[in-house]
Amino acid sequence: MGYDLALIVGHVDEELLCPICADVLEEPMQSSSCEHAFCRFCIEKWIQEKQICPVDRSDLLPIHLVPVSRLMRNMLGRLKIKCSFADNGCTALMPLGEYRNHVANCQNNPKVVVMCTKGCGMRVPKDELTSHNCVYELREQLQDQISEISELRDMQAHQERRLSEHRRELELVQYYVAALRSTNPVIRNVGDQLDRYSLMRWGRSLPLASVRTWGSLISTPDTPMHMMVREGLRASGCPMHLINVLMDCCYEDSWPEGLTTLEMRRMNLHRLAQYVTRLLPIVITGKPCVVILGGDNAHMPENLRPVLGVIMIFVDGVDETLSEPVPLPDSDYL
Ligand SMILES: [Zn+2]
Ligand SMILES: [Zn+2]
Ligand SMILES: [Zn+2]
Ligand SMILES: [Zn+2]
Repeated sequence: MGYDLALIVGHVDEELLCPICADVLEEPMQSSSCEHAFCRFCIEKWIQEKQICPVDRSDLLPIHLVPVSRLMRNMLGRLKIKCSFADNGCTALMPLGEYRNHVANCQNNPKVVVMCTKGCGMRVPKDELTSHNCVYELREQLQDQISEISELRDMQAHQERRLSEHRRELELVQYYVAALRSTNPVIRNVGDQLDRYSLMRWGRSLPLASVRTWGSLISTPDTPMHMMVREGLRASGCPMHLINVLMDCCYEDSWPEGLTTLEMRRMNLHRLAQYVTRLLPIVITGKPCVVILGGDNAHMPENLRPVLGVIMIFVDGVDETLSEPVPLPDSDYL
């Protein structure tokens, strides 16, 4: 590279010239053995081809290159250079270090980028400003954006197709696992563990609830309530393949033994307060809905402990409680 010798004002010592480009040294580096100096750009390019000094052919490897002496840096620092757009009217005179930045932004540089003053607000090279047509440019820009949007739409449609393929595959895998589970006890066991784990992952995203009046429990929700619970489970991110399982556990006859009748619940009333319950983010026609997960309730006696989870709708008397998040069940539990 080097600084154009013709633009330097005054006499330049010969040792300040780069032997490769013959201009004034820019970012000078020297060989630590022979002390010949070059522009960094020039010598790095040279070394890629030949590992010898271009002046005296002594060995020269990248590790031999060091910054030049302070004396040489001082001599370079005293030089003054003109702007390369002096012919276009620039009168600036500056130290070498300011040259590149000045030239790039010099208002006499015909390629300097300026803002269009005719109203479109686009940034255009100065020399194109006279031929610049705002309407034409904006139309071009609009065209570009339209094609960009249509590309993005295509991409999105493609991604959506992939996603639905993946969903379908996942469903098939789940059917496959379900089929295996029905025949193979080992896989059934692993499958149950996975179900408990993914239910708890979902459960941790729900706030804890405190039930004030267990007596206001609706033990046999009607069909519209049932549908709303399903929608609510789906919306709250409940694992798809477990929605049906939980839906089946909306009625008292599928609850743990100690909950199946009003008499049983009355008998166990003093223990029900020990349940860890979570509030579903849905309100079934004005009534709060609560989930009791097996993973949250390992401390409960067996006749009150749900295997996976049960859903309960209350007439009222449920509050959201703020508390520490419960950790996922550990492997001992699983
Ligand atoms: Zn050079
Ligand atoms: Zn040399
Ligand atoms: Zn200038
Ligand atoms: Zn314009």
